[in-house]
Amino acid sequence: MSAATKKREAEAPRVPTHLRKGDTILVITGRERGKTGKVLQVLLEKNRAKVERLNMVKRHRKATGNSAGGIVEKEASIHLSNLQILCGRCNKPTRIAVRRTEDGKGSRYCRRPDCREAIDE
Ligand SMILES: [Zn+2]
Repeated sequence: MSAATKKREAEAPRVPTHLRKGDTILVITGRERGKTGKVLQVLLEKNRAKVERLNMVKRHRKATGNSAGGIVEKEASIHLSNLQILCGRCNKPTRIAVRRTEDGKGSRYCRRPDCREAIDE
């Protein structure tokens, strides 16, 4: 990736997202298309998220005093636009929205017209 690309990405406006750590997602484009996984971390300022065991990259670590070094595999982030949350009720990839519950709190729900169930229990 060139320096110019990196800079543009850093300054990109944030994409509003309801995605949170712990959500199960489906990758809809890119190298990991069709795979599902659990969100480890949402990087709001980059519009990206890290997903468990997806988009693995190898890092060559030098041995230091307390670690042996070698090749370490770790998750690289995936752009939010390549992910869709999987609804636990209808088991389909969906978009989510927030509605107010009776106690005044926000509750995320599935936007599929045939489902509309709450995502979080
Ligand atoms: Zn649903």
